[in-house]
Amino acid sequence: MRLQIVGCTGSMSGPRSAASCYLVQADGPDPATGATRTWSVVLDMGPGSFGQLWTHMDPSDLDGVIFSHCHADHIGDVISLHVHRRWGPARGKTPIVLGGPEGVLDRVRQIDGAGPEETYEGEFALRTLIAGESFRIGPLTLTPSTAWHSVPGFGIRIEGPREDGAGPATLFYTGDTDECDTITRGASGVDLLLSEAGFTDEDEVRGIHLSGSRAGRIAATGTVGRLVLTHIQPWTDSGVAFREARTVWDGPLDVAEAGRLFTL
Ligand SMILES: [Zn+2]
Ligand SMILES: [Zn+2]
Repeated sequence: MRLQIVGCTGSMSGPRSAASCYLVQADGPDPATGATRTWSVVLDMGPGSFGQLWTHMDPSDLDGVIFSHCHADHIGDVISLHVHRRWGPARGKTPIVLGGPEGVLDRVRQIDGAGPEETYEGEFALRTLIAGESFRIGPLTLTPSTAWHSVPGFGIRIEGPREDGAGPATLFYTGDTDECDTITRGASGVDLLLSEAGFTDEDEVRGIHLSGSRAGRIAATGTVGRLVLTHIQPWTDSGVAFREARTVWDGPLDVAEAGRLFTL
């Protein structure tokens, strides 16, 4: 299983990266053909990320896009994806999974400027995320965990085949969330925790974002294999998030950068 950072800037696109977008790929059998192929799922598709996705894969080959929640910095480029699938090179292809919290298609219509008659059924196969209800896309098993954010949202645990063939690998993406039991449990024991750090410890508002130290505490509590910090605002020095996490987490630690690949 591979995790490609497509975009990672917090709350918007930034000077060094598009907004949140993470490509998860794994090789596995395709029931339609019996042959092994690469399966591709994107977690979130924030502003600027669809264009960047082209530098990593042909977006016509996507199998699913999963939205952690419906804030525009996580779903804005769904409109680019839609145009690509209805009128562009992916026209006529099998609808891909579009997952998100209850009402996600209404949010897509709002951004699109479409009315209720727009179903997107030619492009997307809707999957409403429910905490604890796992589902599969090819060789990947995805399990949502309830987040603590200003709108309904989920962290996503993904299990897939290890690149070296030695059993399963796991990762957890927090989406946007503050520290809470459901997210800590969902992340427990994963090989890689991709955690937002939208706030620093200077931010006192709760129920919105993690800070570096709160992300570090989730990593330490869950004894994860590696912590990767992301969703850092473009005006925040990423070194602040790194140092905050280091106060509570002494394991492998990285700050996400657009274009970086993690192999599990
Ligand atoms: Zn966000
Ligand atoms: Zn958000």
